[in-house]
Amino acid sequence: MFDFQDFGFDSASDGSADASPPSTGPYIPEASECMRCGMCVSTCPTFRLFQVDEQTPRRRVRTIAKILADDAGVGVEELAQLNDCVQCRTCETVCPSRMSYGTLFDRAQAKLRATARPSWLARLGLRLIERKHARALLLPFVTLYLRSGLQKPLRASGLLAKLGLGAAEALVCEPSLVGMAGIYPVERRIKYRGRVALFTGCLAEHFDRPVQVAGIKLLNRLGYEVVVPEEQGCCGAIHQHNGLPAESMMEANIAAFYALEVEAVIYSASGCGAMLTEYQGGDSETSGWFTKHLIDINEFLLAHWPEDLQLAASNLNVAVHEPCSQRNVLKNSQSVYALLRKIPGVNLEALADNQLCCGAGGTYMLSHPENAESLRAAKRLAMAGSGADVVVSANFGCGFYLNAGQPAGSRVVHPLQLLADRI
Ligand code: SF4
Ligand code: SF4
Repeated sequence: MFDFQDFGFDSASDGSADASPPSTGPYIPEASECMRCGMCVSTCPTFRLFQVDEQTPRRRVRTIAKILADDAGVGVEELAQLNDCVQCRTCETVCPSRMSYGTLFDRAQAKLRATARPSWLARLGLRLIERKHARALLLPFVTLYLRSGLQKPLRASGLLAKLGLGAAEALVCEPSLVGMAGIYPVERRIKYRGRVALFTGCLAEHFDRPVQVAGIKLLNRLGYEVVVPEEQGCCGAIHQHNGLPAESMMEANIAAFYALEVEAVIYSASGCGAMLTEYQGGDSETSGWFTKHLIDINEFLLAHWPEDLQLAASNLNVAVHEPCSQRNVLKNSQSVYALLRKIPGVNLEALADNQLCCGAGGTYMLSHPENAESLRAAKRLAMAGSGADVVVSANFGCGFYLNAGQPAGSRVVHPLQLLADRI
């Protein structure tokens, strides 16, 4: 198994937090402040899967409290149950103690990973996430493998499973091999309104290119020149949620965008956005600038949509999948509905059971393939039952996981693609 829960790390948080709520600003309670009220239990996807108390946020918060308090009484099974968490953060949305579960989980992971040695496969995965040029060198081999006809016999041989590559190989799809341009200018016939930068992160540039192209087309049509800085890299979410330091990645991204003199830093994947909004790296001026200028592409387009821009009509029935990162962290799902209503005649509905995670969960689809598959199967059932012509999702990871192994005609698309097709 590609075990992302098996990492070592370079530094650890001591998990300390101010126990008394401040009168203003966000409050992150200690895990020990959980009231055990149980309001979070039924919202948790792993409780939905296993129906046992050990797989609930309430139990996990207790485990986290023990870890952060240096309590040695956390057993192997209890740790495994903590790590079964898909990190959807749905529990945060219902907690009367305002438990900041995601932050506490990351602190506990950082503390745990002090003694863990990463597997060679996990280290390789992390290096590829960190190093853009190494990724670029590997991508032609991915394409070659997919076109070679080797996939079927290799899967049948069982070798992939033995090497722990089965879950990763099942997800692989053809990347775009050509890098993106640095600048996408506005056409002369369109009134220039400004200059913005696009965050593409680590994988989206190559594995989610149609969405990046659709986003740029829309921004250009609204009059915005789009800059895609070569120096940007992964947002750091994968490292942080696995207890590894992400500060250098944050600082590199802040520096890359700060240097551009743009009026907004725009992201199209809500999973990256959730991490970017929590950036605290860089010195106070640059990190303050980054936070102030960061915006979700759906929100940006909505705020800057010209009154005279009409899209082609469509009577498509569209079901909206609301990614956990968008629903529980960014809390801006409504921007997708409002933006898609720019298409005259479109019928929109929320996908049933939208609060249930699709199973992707960053690297969860690799580290816990069986749990992830059960959650994906439930999501696909909801999609099939919706009767919609198309399902949209504003997160690259969710779309990537839901589309894996599916025929092209039934693919989940980003809302930007529906909009860009109708300009
Ligand atoms: S809802 Fe919050 S306070 Fe209640 S059991 Fe869950 S984590 Fe604890
Ligand atoms: S983050 Fe999601 S999976 Fe983890 S405990 Fe909370 S609700 Fe359950």
